[in-house]
Amino acid sequence: MSPGLERRRVRVSGTVQGVGFRPFVYGLANSAGLTGFVRNDPAGVLIEVEGPPPSIPEFIQRISTEAPAMSVIGSIEEETIPLRGSISFEIWTSTAEGAVEAYVAADAATCDECLAEIGDPSARRYRYPFTNCTNCGPRFTIVRAVPYDRPNTTMSVFEMCSECKSEYEDPGDRRFHAQPIACPQCGPQLQLLDRNLEQVDGDPIEGAARLIGAGRILAIKGLGGYHLACDATDGRAVEQLRARKHREEKPLAVMAATIDDVRSLCHFGPGEAEAISSRRRPIVLLGRRSDSPISPAVAPGNRWLGVMLPYTPLHHLLMDEFGGPIVLTSGNLSDEPIAHRDEKAFAQLAAIADAWLVHDRAIHVRCDDSVVRVTPRGDYPIRRSRGFAPEPVIVRPFSRTILAAGGELKHTFCIGVGERAILSHHIGDLENWEAMSALLEGVEHLTRVFDAKPEVVAYDLHPEYLSTKWAKSLDVGTRVGVQHHHAHIASCLADNGRDEKVIGLALDGTGYGDDDTIWGCEVLECDVASYRRRAHLRYVPLPGGGVAIKQPWRMAAVYLHEAFGQSASEMDLDFVRRSRERWGPLLAMMASGINSPTASSAGRLFDAVAALCGVRQSVSYEGQAAAELEQLADPSVTMAYPCPLQDGELDGVQLAAAAAEDLVAGMPVEYVAAAFHNGLAQALVECCFLQGLGQAYEDELEQLKESEI
Ligand code: ZN
Ligand code: ZN
Repeated sequence: MSPGLERRRVRVSGTVQGVGFRPFVYGLANSAGLTGFVRNDPAGVLIEVEGPPPSIPEFIQRISTEAPAMSVIGSIEEETIPLRGSISFEIWTSTAEGAVEAYVAADAATCDECLAEIGDPSARRYRYPFTNCTNCGPRFTIVRAVPYDRPNTTMSVFEMCSECKSEYEDPGDRRFHAQPIACPQCGPQLQLLDRNLEQVDGDPIEGAARLIGAGRILAIKGLGGYHLACDATDGRAVEQLRARKHREEKPLAVMAATIDDVRSLCHFGPGEAEAISSRRRPIVLLGRRSDSPISPAVAPGNRWLGVMLPYTPLHHLLMDEFGGPIVLTSGNLSDEPIAHRDEKAFAQLAAIADAWLVHDRAIHVRCDDSVVRVTPRGDYPIRRSRGFAPEPVIVRPFSRTILAAGGELKHTFCIGVGERAILSHHIGDLENWEAMSALLEGVEHLTRVFDAKPEVVAYDLHPEYLSTKWAKSLDVGTRVGVQHHHAHIASCLADNGRDEKVIGLALDGTGYGDDDTIWGCEVLECDVASYRRRAHLRYVPLPGGGVAIKQPWRMAAVYLHEAFGQSASEMDLDFVRRSRERWGPLLAMMASGINSPTASSAGRLFDAVAALCGVRQSVSYEGQAAAELEQLADPSVTMAYPCPLQDGELDGVQLAAAAAEDLVAGMPVEYVAAAFHNGLAQALVECCFLQGLGQAYEDELEQLKESEI
C-alpha cells in the first residue's frame, strides 16, 4: 500500500435511499479519483473512500453541497480507518442488518427528464403513464418495509424486462436502482372501465378525456388513492359530483395542465408559483381571477381556489389530452378517508363514478394531496400529506420512542424517535370506522417502516375522542395526556426549531381543557414540556353543544344576549328580525344550563360575528363561517373594535357588541368584518406584551402586524 494515502468511512443519514444517492456518490468518487465503495444499509448510506488525503475533504464537502434533488441529509459522520488497498470504486448491494434508521422518502412529482421521455415518440417510454426514475416517482405510497428495495415495494410483482434491468444495474443510468422502474413491456398497465367495470376499448387516456369532456364523473386511481374528476368549467358536472359525493359546499380542488394554465385561473402572489411547481406538488390556495372559466360551484363564495399541477405521468397525459382544468378531489364519501384499495374503491365509489381509469400497481398506503397556503412568512401547510409524509421534523432528541395520537378532526399522528418527529399522512376526521381503520393501518405501517417500538403514548385530554380511547387502550409502558392547545403551540415551536419558554396563542374551535371545561382561545405561557394558562377568551354558553357549532346563528344570539340582555331582541338588525322567534328555547337552555356547556372558543366568536354580518346562519363544513367572514373583511380598514383584558379574560362579548352596534348604525359588513379581525388581533398582541413577552420580540411583532393583520 502506498504511503500518502488515507481511508475514511463516511456515514450519511437522512432521506438518502431511493433518491439516487449511491450513483451520485459513485460519480463523485470517480471524478475525484478515489477508490472504495458505497452501499445502503438500514442506517442510511455507508461510504468508504481511499485516496490522497487532500481530495477526501473536498469529496465529503461535495456530498452535502451537490446531493440529489430528492435527498435530505440528516448528518454526515466520518472516521479514519486502516487502508484496504482498494483499486476501484464500487456500488455494493443493500444489507438489512442493523437498526433501521434510514428515512423513507416522500413521493415526488415527475421530473423534467421523465416528462421529456413520455413526450418523445422515439423513446421507449413514449406516453407510458408509470415512467419514473431515481429523481422522481412513487416512494412512501408503495413501500411495504425497509430497506427500500424493489421486493419491499408493491412493484415486486412486476418482473423487470431485460432493458429495464440493464438500466437498473447501470451506475451511469438515471434509473440505476430506481426501485419503481418500469416500461410498457414489463410494468403496470392502465385500463379504462365503464360503470359496470367492463373494459372500454381504445386508448384509456383518450377515452378518459373524452368522458370528462362529455360531462361525466371519472374515478382515477392515482398515486396515493382514488380521485374523482370532472370538467371544472362544467357547472352541471360539478353539481352532480357534489350531490353524489354528499359534499354540499366545501371547496373542491382543481388540476391545471401547466403553470400558464394556472395563470389564466388565478393570480400568483410572491412565492406561490414556486410552491405549486415544487416537487411536492401540493394544492396551493390562490386568489381566483374574476374572469376565470372555473364553475362557481367548484368553490362557492370563495375568493380562493385550490389548484395543483400534474404530479404523475398519468396526470400529465390526461391533462394534455383533455386540455382544460379538471376538478380532482379525494375519492370518498364526505368525511371518509380517500379510497386506495381497488375492491374497496369499486364498492365505495360505485354510486359516484360513471367510469374508472385504473391500473395494476397497488397503493400500499393511502396519501391525500397536501394543501398549502403561501404567507409572507413562508409556506403554511394546511394539510401536510402527499409529497411531505413521512419526512420528519428534526427536534431535540426524544429519550424514549413516542407514539402521539392526534385530535378528532383532520387527524394525523406522530412517531417520535431519536431526533425525528415523523408526522403521518392525513388520516381525516375520526368520526367513522373507515377513518379509525385508516389510523390503525397508518400506525402499523409507520412503526414498521421506521422500526419504532413505542414506549410512551401521548393522547388528547378529550375523553370522548376515538383517538384518545384507542391510545388509552394500547399496551404501552407510559401514557401521557396532553392538553389540546398546549399541543398546538408545542407543534408550532417544533416547526420553528425552538424550545425555549414562549407566550403562545392558540385560536381554535374547541379543545378539552385541564379543568374539564371547553377551551378554544388560549394564551399560554409555555415551553414544549409544560404550560400555564395566562389568559383566554371570556366563556359563553354553547346552547345545544355540538349543534351550536353547526348553527352560527345560535352563537350570534348568545353573544347579543350576553351583551345587551333582554333588549337584544329589540335591536334594529337584520339578523335579529330573521332569527328572534327561534331564540326562546335557546335562552331557556342557556338559563337552565342543560345541554349548554360554556366555552372560551375563538371559533364560536367568529361564528357569531359571521352570523351577525349575514354571512351565514348555518354551516356545512368545519370553519366555513369564519373562512367566509375573513374573505369579506376589507383589508384597507384600520379600525379595531375594543376587546379588553380583565383578570385573564379577553372580553369577546364587547367585540361582538361593537360589531352589532356598527351594523345597526348602517356600517358596511366589509368594514365590520375587518374591524372585528383587527380588534381581536390587536387585543391578542397587547395581551402578549402584558404577559411579559417584553421588548425582545417587539420588532418581530411589528413585522407580523404589518404582514398579516
Ligand atoms: Zn424522473
Ligand atoms: Zn421494462
